[in-house]
Amino acid sequence: MAKSATKYLFVTGGVTSSLGKGIIAASLGKLLSARGYSVTIQKLDPYINIDPGTMNPYEHGECFVTDDGAETDLDLGHYERFLDNRTSQANNVTTGRVYQTVINKERNGDYLGKTVQIIPHITDEIKRRIKLLGETEKYDFVITEIGGTVGDIESLPYIEAVRQLKWELESDAIFIHLTLVPYLSAAKELKTKPTQHSVKMLLESGIQPDILVCRTEHHLNSDIRRKISRFCNVEIESVIESIDASSIYDVPLMMEKEGLDKVVLKKLEITNNTKVELGEWSSFLEKLRNPKRNIKIGLVGKYVELQDAYKSISESILHAGTLQDCKVEVKWIHAEEINKDNVSEKLTGLKGVLVAPGFGDRGMEGKIETIKFVRENNIPFFGICLGMQSAVIEFAKNVLGYTDANSTEMNKDTSTPVIDLMEEQKNIIQKGGTMRLGSYSCSLSKASNAINSYGETEINERHRHRFEFNNKYLSEFEKKGMIATGKNKKTNLVEIVEIPKHPWFVGVQFHPEYKSTVSTPHPLFVGFIKACISK
Ligand code: GLN
Repeated sequence: MAKSATKYLFVTGGVTSSLGKGIIAASLGKLLSARGYSVTIQKLDPYINIDPGTMNPYEHGECFVTDDGAETDLDLGHYERFLDNRTSQANNVTTGRVYQTVINKERNGDYLGKTVQIIPHITDEIKRRIKLLGETEKYDFVITEIGGTVGDIESLPYIEAVRQLKWELESDAIFIHLTLVPYLSAAKELKTKPTQHSVKMLLESGIQPDILVCRTEHHLNSDIRRKISRFCNVEIESVIESIDASSIYDVPLMMEKEGLDKVVLKKLEITNNTKVELGEWSSFLEKLRNPKRNIKIGLVGKYVELQDAYKSISESILHAGTLQDCKVEVKWIHAEEINKDNVSEKLTGLKGVLVAPGFGDRGMEGKIETIKFVRENNIPFFGICLGMQSAVIEFAKNVLGYTDANSTEMNKDTSTPVIDLMEEQKNIIQKGGTMRLGSYSCSLSKASNAINSYGETEINERHRHRFEFNNKYLSEFEKKGMIATGKNKKTNLVEIVEIPKHPWFVGVQFHPEYKSTVSTPHPLFVGFIKACISK
């Protein structure tokens, strides 16, 4: 394919939040990469936190971690799952980071003599970060999703920055605006006014959208499309319907049907007659829609009311289930609701249990009771990060007989700290971005379910934690049947524990969920679901 300048696609949203900008950006990215282009997607977040790492999942949903250790927005998870390529720190920009850079430069004297202002200093920094991906990685397309809703005070510098960029990039940039076309059931009518208003608001900022993606519960007929086209100055073929889908993975095909990728290429004056290659994606959807079997598993965690908090985990379960023609229903169980007396009732009918990552001691008792139950009853168990640490604590309490065993995160004064703060963490006071973050290697050393799943002995997985298995106790654990089957060679940190006598009992210190994609479901999730199916 002839190599021309990187094209920039700016995705904004209007009318309301939660219209699924991230999924539209990921779907468009998928369609362009299915035509053979290299694509990356970036998210600009208008909050003042440096990153979402210090936010509560109730505020922000899951915090997605990249290979290079950035704590980012959960939309980056969608980008990776759809495109099957890796994102990095550069793919998530926050207002906090932008201001931090500008203020540091000011202190360094880089602007000596000048008044530092939103325009041009903040907007220049935003533009630099947008262009960085195109310049350093030479992507064909950089899709930049601007968080928030047009009209928000917080988003103004971003909107102004992309307006300026369009001026500089001329025909190498276009605007895609996502809006809502609500249905008034009393009038039995779809209403275009909110879309008109939100486009007007964009126009006030000097931006004319090239394409409108209209989220709707009902099909847009040609009258509605014509009306939107006329009032919003976009061609009728650039009015794209985005109707509610039963799965987010349907959206790329829906967008292809609506011709989103074609209009994008046309607007950028690119002739491309390559066929969109979505065969693998379609067979995934085919399997997703026609499962041959059903199973139910449990997910025990602290934020079960808010499933966005475990987004990558639930998507990984779906990928692994679909690969095995299995619909996996997940029963979300609040750890605080589980106790010794009700654990068997809470877990009845479940073919396997996953204990989720987390921080702090709320719900620990329920997690321990859950793990004791699945360990003793040979129910497949998958513990992730705090889930793995809980399995270690449970084993120490109930098998090794250390009734006081704990993590020093939960009890500083425990007499048996089987999980302890990592050495490198001991002098850290600052909270933001200071955990053990990002990709580390792990060697799988013994015949184990881990090796069976991965099919190789050297792996890399992403981490986000401060506490670790305390190696002082390892030989005692191994004598009694809990084995370290994965270790970091350099630091000797235990990354995986297993109970070989149990059909499938695997605890991992890392987060496998961050690396599962539609085309490459994660081996450990595949192994876990396989064990659940055969249970
Ligand atoms: N709170 C634990 C730690 O910091 C586990 C973290 C997690 O589950 N992501 O080590």
